[in-house]
Amino acid sequence: MMVEDLHGNPQPLGGNDMPRFGGPGTFMRLPGNSSPTDLDVAVVGVPLDIGTSNRPGARFGPRGIRGESVLLRPYNMATRAAPFDSLCIDDIGDVATSPYDLLAAVEAIETHYDDLLAHDVVTATMGGDHTIVLPILRAMKKKHGPVGLVHVDAHTDINDTMFGSKVAHGTPFRRAVEEDLLDADRVVQIGVRGTGYAADDFDWSREQGFRVVQAEECWHRSLDPLMAEVRMKVGGGPVYLSFDIDGLDPAFAPGTGTPEVGGLTMPQALEIVRGCRGLNLAGCDLVEVAPIYDSSGMTSLVGANLLYEMLCVLPGVEYPA
Ligand code: MN
Ligand code: MN
Repeated sequence: MMVEDLHGNPQPLGGNDMPRFGGPGTFMRLPGNSSPTDLDVAVVGVPLDIGTSNRPGARFGPRGIRGESVLLRPYNMATRAAPFDSLCIDDIGDVATSPYDLLAAVEAIETHYDDLLAHDVVTATMGGDHTIVLPILRAMKKKHGPVGLVHVDAHTDINDTMFGSKVAHGTPFRRAVEEDLLDADRVVQIGVRGTGYAADDFDWSREQGFRVVQAEECWHRSLDPLMAEVRMKVGGGPVYLSFDIDGLDPAFAPGTGTPEVGGLTMPQALEIVRGCRGLNLAGCDLVEVAPIYDSSGMTSLVGANLLYEMLCVLPGVEYPA
């Protein structure tokens, strides 16, 4: 069943037209039949997890997020955002990534995003492990030059190598700096914490000019003031938002491969994403959801909601009074 509004934009299928547990398996039950040529925003799945260091399962992330997104309704009651009225948004399916060959998969992702970004489109990606952000940023650079970055994560993901490999889910932002994909003075990492291999592990990021916000700096407080600082730091050019679900505390998002205690709360995650309103977002992602460690489906539900909140802050979304 196709549901389109007067704007002609693709619309999520509503729960009064088809029960929530029926209908298409796309994100928010969008039609899923659009060409990128016609879109402002392409929702893309990247079902890859062979870059994972600990528990695998993020390959099931896109399917899990789409599955739990059936409960989402089009209007944001907190911010009044109406993303599907303002923008042409559709779920265009998954990138065909090899489950055997990580480097081949990374190349396939870059090619896929090169093709997408040939259109005037913003990408909203469902991971997949965090390796996928490297080929996405490579494609972003070809279109936008080096981008600013808002990176939410328990980990800085700036290892030089993991088990001898340069490409893995804990190395993408080291590679991104080396390849000049990031405007290092416009990078913020939020929520990092836990144990490290050395006591100064987070200092490499700081030496690049990143603002590193450790989880402890976020405890027991609203992140609205932080986000005002973030907008000052990363504004003034294209920005990419990369949200690793393990930035949240495992109490809110247990379904992930490398959980760390003492993380962000769900309201803080909403403050972060909503605090990105006004930035020139060129793309965003929600990665590392591994539904198999969470029988409740809560992690996928959180992922679906955060991806929806990202759609609500993309350039061009109108906020009715
Ligand atoms: Mn990560
Ligand atoms: Mn992480």
